[in-house]
Amino acid sequence: MSCAPRPAKPSGPWTRKKTSRSHRPGVDGVEPQFDAAHARPRAQTDFQIQELLDRLEAGAYGICEECGEEIGIARLKARPVTTLCIQCKSDQEVEERKAKRVV
Ligand SMILES: [Zn+2]
Repeated sequence: MSCAPRPAKPSGPWTRKKTSRSHRPGVDGVEPQFDAAHARPRAQTDFQIQELLDRLEAGAYGICEECGEEIGIARLKARPVTTLCIQCKSDQEVEERKAKRVV
């Protein structure tokens, strides 16, 4: 047994790189924990969120960009980045399926 006082931590490139510069005794325990939710590749999500923020600013958030109807809070809760109401989304999916079948 080593007598290292620190509890076991997940090892990886993220653990100490940022904090080693400002190493102070007593602060080891408050290193930011690695957050798995932020580790996934999220380029697409970032793009969608940016678009969503643009729509929020434009006052168009929650409005279907296809038919202009309100998307509905339940659907927005389930898919906050959606830009189509359930009707237009299913229409779109049908169209996509048709398009794939034609090829
Ligand atoms: Zn619609």
